[in-house]
Amino acid sequence: MIVCRSIAETRKIIAGWHRESEVVGLVPTMGFFHDGHLELMRTSVTRTGKTVVSLFVNPTQFGPGEDLEVYPRDFDGDCAKAREVGVDLMFCPEPDDIYRTGHSTEVSVTGLAAGLCGADRPGHFTGVATVVTKLFNIVQPNYAFFGEKDFQQLRIIHQLARDLDFPIWVVGVPIVREDDGLAMSSRNAYLSDKERREALVLYKALMLIKQQVLDSQGRSETDSLIRMAVELIEKNGSCSLEYLSIVDEKDLEKLSIVEGRCRALGAIRVNQRIRLIDNLALYN
Ligand code: AMP
Repeated sequence: MIVCRSIAETRKIIAGWHRESEVVGLVPTMGFFHDGHLELMRTSVTRTGKTVVSLFVNPTQFGPGEDLEVYPRDFDGDCAKAREVGVDLMFCPEPDDIYRTGHSTEVSVTGLAAGLCGADRPGHFTGVATVVTKLFNIVQPNYAFFGEKDFQQLRIIHQLARDLDFPIWVVGVPIVREDDGLAMSSRNAYLSDKERREALVLYKALMLIKQQVLDSQGRSETDSLIRMAVELIEKNGSCSLEYLSIVDEKDLEKLSIVEGRCRALGAIRVNQRIRLIDNLALYN
C-alpha cells in the first residue's frame, strides 16, 4: 500500500492507473478505523481495480466547541488495517495543503442539508461538501463509497455529484453494528462502559419504531411513533435527544404517515458531551 501526503504525487499515481484503464474507488474517511470503515474499503476492493482511502480530519466540518482537537487518531493502526483489507493508496494530506492560504471557495448543497444534523451543526455539511468536492477533483474516482450511518451526508453527496456533473457513482454501504446493535463510530471511543450501555437507547428507540411499523401492517402515523420513541430516550437519564425524525429517503422531508421508502433518523448526546447518530430504514 502506498501512503501519500502530497496532492501532486497522489494525482500522478492515479493518473497512471487511469491510463491503464483501472477502475478507481475512493473511500473518504477521518480515520480511527473500525469495521464500518473497513466494510467500505472491502466493498471498494471487491468492486474496483484500485482503492484509494483518504484520511483527513477535515477542520471545516467541525463547529466551534466541537471535538476537532480531541478527535481520536491512530495513524499507524489505520495504515495496518487498510493494508490488510487490500487498499492500494492512503491519501493523508495536511490541512494546510487542502486549505491553502487564501482559500475562499465553499460548496453548499441547499435543501437536503438544512434539517436533521444540519440544523444542529450549522456549516457542517458545507465543510463536508467542500472537502468531498476537492477529494473528487484530486482523486477523480469512478466510484465513491459512503456509509449509510451518515445517511444525510450520503444523500447530500449523491445530490452534489449529480448537480456538479461529477462522473462518479456514489455508492451507499449499509451500517455496520456491534453485536448488541450499537452503530460503529469513531466517537464510541469517547464512551465509558456505562455510557456505552446507555448510548444503545437510540438504536432501541429506532428499533421500537420499526417494530411498531411492521406490526401495524397499515398506515402508521409518525407523530405517535416519534412520541413513543422519545419517551423511551427520555427515561434514560444520561442521554438527551437532539432530534428524531421520520423522513422520505429521497428528499429527507418529514412525513406524517409511514409509507414508501422512509427512514427514521436520530441524534443523541450522551452526558451532554458525546454526540452520536443512527438511523434505520422502515421497510424490508
Ligand atoms: P468518518 O471517518 O466518521 O468520517 O466516516 C467515514 C465513512 O465511513 C463515512 O462514509 C461514514 O458514513 C462511514 N461509516 C462510519 N461508521 C460506519 C458504520 N458503522 N457503518 C458503515 N459506514 C460507516
